[in-house]
Amino acid sequence: MGPAKKKKKGKEKKFRRELGSWSAVELEKFIEYKAEDAGKKVIYINPKYSPQKCSRCGYVSKENRHDSVFKCKNCGFELNADLNASRNIEVIRVSEYFRLLSASQSLLFNETPLTGGAGDQRQAPKL
Ligand SMILES: [Zn+2]
Repeated sequence: MGPAKKKKKGKEKKFRRELGSWSAVELEKFIEYKAEDAGKKVIYINPKYSPQKCSRCGYVSKENRHDSVFKCKNCGFELNADLNASRNIEVIRVSEYFRLLSASQSLLFNETPLTGGAGDQRQAPKL
């Protein structure tokens, strides 16, 4: 029991070390390759202000963040800091998705048969 468990842990550690040794560019290329393989597009998001931005009113301030708690100086909104940051990223992600969608919409609509009939093809691509 003991040695088997130890072996597994060692493997995980090795994997993590390998992943940790990748450069950011290598990791990006790997993700892009995997996404392309699955027919998906990679969207890059700049998280610069996410930790300081209020996900409720959009107010940005360094003082909004108090360690693990986010508290907005403007509207008083309080939330776990990581949760607030991820909400901001989600908003950027969705708006970027719709931007890409509208850019490719004319193409999508041209491919759609006007007769309609069996099933509407104008479905938004899956996120
Ligand atoms: Zn606020």
